[in-house]
Amino acid sequence: MIKKIDHLGIAVTDLQEAIEIYKNIGLEFVGTEVVDEQKVETAFFRVGESYFELLAATDPSSPIAKFIEKNGGRMHHIALAVDDVEAEIERLLGLGFDMIDKSPRRGAHGNLIAFMHPKATKGTLLEICCKEKPSV
Ligand code: ZN
Repeated sequence: MIKKIDHLGIAVTDLQEAIEIYKNIGLEFVGTEVVDEQKVETAFFRVGESYFELLAATDPSSPIAKFIEKNGGRMHHIALAVDDVEAEIERLLGLGFDMIDKSPRRGAHGNLIAFMHPKATKGTLLEICCKEKPSV
C-alpha cells in the first residue's frame, strides 16, 4: 500500500550551501547522513509529515554526480512511503513496471528503499521506501 509522499530528493552541487538556503527558507533542519552505498551525503528537512532530502555526491562515480553533470542541481526523485518494500517491488513488477532495484536496499536512516526505472513513469524517478526506525 502506498501511504504518502515520504520525501522529495533534490540533487545539489554544494551541500552546505544548499542547507543554508533551505534553512533560510524556513524549513526545519533534521540532520545529515553519509550513505556510502550510494556515494552520497544527504541532508533532511522536515516539511509537515514529509521531508526534503538534499543529495550531494561524495565521489565522482556517484549516481548523483552523473545526474548533476547531465541535469544540473534540481529535483531528482519523489519517494513514496509503503508498508513493505519487497511486496511493492513484486506488485509493481507484476504490473509490468521496470524496477532499477529488484530487491530492497539500504537508504538513509537504515530505511529499505527501491527505485523504479524512470522510463516506467516516462521520466520521473520514483523511490518506494519503508522506515524501519521510528525517527526520521
Ligand atoms: Zn530518497
